[in-house]
Amino acid sequence: MITGKTKLTGLIGDPVEHTLSPHMHNAGFKYFNLDYVYTPFQVKKEHLQEAIYGARSLGIKGLNVTIPHKIEVIKYLDVLEDNAELIGAVNTIKFGDEIKGYNTDGLGAVRGIEELIPVKNKKVIVLGAGGASRAISFQILLRGAGKVIIANRTIEKAYNLQKNLINRLDAEVGAVGLGEDLKEELEDTDILINTTPIGMYPNINQKPLITSEMMHEGLIVNDIIYNPLETGLLREARLAGAQTISGLKMLIYQGIESFKIWTGREPPVEVFEEAMKEVL
Ligand code: NAP
Repeated sequence: MITGKTKLTGLIGDPVEHTLSPHMHNAGFKYFNLDYVYTPFQVKKEHLQEAIYGARSLGIKGLNVTIPHKIEVIKYLDVLEDNAELIGAVNTIKFGDEIKGYNTDGLGAVRGIEELIPVKNKKVIVLGAGGASRAISFQILLRGAGKVIIANRTIEKAYNLQKNLINRLDAEVGAVGLGEDLKEELEDTDILINTTPIGMYPNINQKPLITSEMMHEGLIVNDIIYNPLETGLLREARLAGAQTISGLKMLIYQGIESFKIWTGREPPVEVFEEAMKEVL
C-alpha cells in the first residue's frame, strides 16, 4: 500500500509505454518488503531540466534514464560515478545531498556474459558503435578483455569510439566495417555482442549481420535485444553450435545494479527473472 512514507523511484524517457523495468523493481521491493514504488514518467526533451530538479524537490529517491536523455541529463547532475564519467552517459540517478549519475548498462551486459565465461583476456567483437556499444565496450575492457573490435556500418563512428577507448583506457582496440575484415576478425573471436537494433520487434525477420557459416563452436554470442528473446542472430549462433545469451540478461543485471544503488540491497536474479517471465 502506498502511504506517506513510501519512497518513490522511476524511469524518465520518451517513449516509456513499453518499459519492463517497473515489473522488475516493484518485484524486488516486494521481495525485501521495502516501502518503495517504481513508476515510469514520459519526459519530453525540452522538459528534462525541470524533470530532474522537480524530482529532487519532490523527494524522489532514484531514477533510471533512457532514450533520449542518457547524455543530455549529465548537465543537470552534481557528480558522476567513474563508469558514467568514462562512458559519458547516465542510466541511473540517485538523489541525496547531491544528484549523482551512474551507468549500469555495461555492468549488466558483462555480468550476463560472465555467467558463462570470464571476459578477462578474451577477444570481443561489438557490432554497432552507438550508446549501448560505448557502455559495453568500456566496461568489458575495464573488466580485463584482451582486445575489443568495434564493427559498424558507419566506419567513422567505429573509428571515433576506438580512439576514445584507446585514449581513456590505453587498451587494445580495433575498428572495422561490416565486410570481409569483420569475417576475418570473427575467426579467432571468443565473444560476439550485437548492439544494433537488427532483428528487434517488429523486424524479427531482418537478416542478421553475421550468419552461422561465419561463426564457430567456441564462440559466445550475446544479442542485447530482448524482444524477441531469440533473435535471428541467436538462431544462427545455435545452428553453428555456439553458446547464446539473450538481451534479457543485460536488462535484468543493469536493473539489479540500479536497485543496489538506490536501496543497498541486491535482489536474487530469480526475482527479476520471474517478474519478466510474467510479462514476456
Ligand atoms: P544507437 O545509439 O542508435 O546505435 C545503434 C547502432 O546500430 C549504430 O551503431 C548503428 O550504425 C547501428 N545500426 C542501426 N541500424 C543498422 C542497420 N540496419 N545495419 C547496420 N547497423 C545498424 O542505439 P543504442 O542506444 O546503442 O541501442 C541499440 C540497441 O540496443 C537497441 O535495439 C536497444 O533496444 C538495445 N538495448 C538493449 C539493452 C538491454 O538492457 N538489453 C540496453 C540498451 C540498449 P550507424 O552508426 O551506421 O548508424
